[in-house]
Amino acid sequence: MDHFHLKDGVLHCEGVPLPRIAAEIGTPVYVYSTATMVRHAGVMKAALAGLADPLIAYAVKANPNVAVLATLARQGLGADIVSGGEYARARAAGIAAEKIVFSGVGKTADEMARALEGGLYQFNLESLEEAEMLSQVAASMGLAAPVGFRVNPDVAAGTHAKITTGSAENKFGIPIGDAPAAYARIRRLPGMKVQGVAVHIGSQLTSLAPLEAAFARVGALIAELRAVGCAIEVADLGGGLGVPYNPALPEPPSPADYGAMVRRIAGDWGVRLVFEPGRLITGNAGVLLTRVIRVKPGATHPFLIVDAAMNDLMRPALYDAWHEIGAVEPKGPKMTTTVVGPVCESGDTFATAREMDEVAADDLVVFRTAGAYGAAMANSYNSRAVTPEVLVDGDRWAVVRKRIEVAELIAGDAIPDWLARPVTAP
Ligand SMILES: *Cc1c(COP(=O)(O)O)cnc(C)c1O
Repeated sequence: MDHFHLKDGVLHCEGVPLPRIAAEIGTPVYVYSTATMVRHAGVMKAALAGLADPLIAYAVKANPNVAVLATLARQGLGADIVSGGEYARARAAGIAAEKIVFSGVGKTADEMARALEGGLYQFNLESLEEAEMLSQVAASMGLAAPVGFRVNPDVAAGTHAKITTGSAENKFGIPIGDAPAAYARIRRLPGMKVQGVAVHIGSQLTSLAPLEAAFARVGALIAELRAVGCAIEVADLGGGLGVPYNPALPEPPSPADYGAMVRRIAGDWGVRLVFEPGRLITGNAGVLLTRVIRVKPGATHPFLIVDAAMNDLMRPALYDAWHEIGAVEPKGPKMTTTVVGPVCESGDTFATAREMDEVAADDLVVFRTAGAYGAAMANSYNSRAVTPEVLVDGDRWAVVRKRIEVAELIAGDAIPDWLARPVTAP
């Protein structure tokens, strides 16, 4: 459920007509709905009701805009971060240190030190080598780092290969079978407060079964660790619950069903549970608003060439992702078209032979469910300006990231002395 609706034939985000934003800011532009984010934070909280003090640590990488993070901070959410940059963003947005968990396979000593200095709830360690580095860093600062291992339960998540993280060949976590020995090792290291265990098997999961299988293995591990005297007080169950992108497909499991499964499997573990939803919170809270440049005839279907491209929204090129595409002012008739951007790559295709609202040059179009992994991955490939972001709240709206113009991109480049001399023709 979201807050993008037709009003008098014009698509609005909450109280704001999208053509107004396009006219003032230009296109392409991301537009986010505050009410939708607040709603999803509430849905997640309600789904987890009955658990003892769960921590919902929003996965910052899905949408790291500080206005988005500030919106979620006001709903009491924490942050799951994967870099020093995300730590800085979370703190800048007002997320409390004790609500931050730090995931990722490549944490550097510098990132560890900055997180320890500022404070955090838990490091999710992804290797023994990382644990040894963190031990040294924390001990040299006279601190004890709160830690858990991210374990890899070796379950198939049944999702796209590029967003699967919990099978044996993935780079993430330590094999769950190696965990008892790894915990025994880190309990002897200085500078460690061993407190938790973490798991995250992948993204856009459309079935609860792999999650349930993974959680059951984590439960067994907690019992095994406790039996040898290792006190586990925190279990981080990760994120990954899917959201509906394609209305023609069955809906992914609801947060309520997910919550019921978690209560059944983990309700009696005697730990504080942590959750790391990303797209569930921000996915359908955003659209990418774009304008049709022209319609070009094609061999089987016309090409709809829009002013957004794979650099603005990478998901279709990266994961073969499906986004619903519609007119901002639909007139009724439909057309079948292949929707592409201006970038010089065949991969710059948003949809092939898609049946959608009939539109023509200069019409506005939206890509739905673009609030997660959209602007977060935007870049300037083909020397395109980096897409701005707008946050709507009721009838008001504000630019929350300005467009990074081509002149600014060029200004970041530099010509070295040896090329600065006037060009002499050969
Ligand atoms: C990406 C990620 C998430 C969030 O995934 P979603 O599919 O957006 O819910 C949570 N935890 C970790 C460790 C991640 O890498």
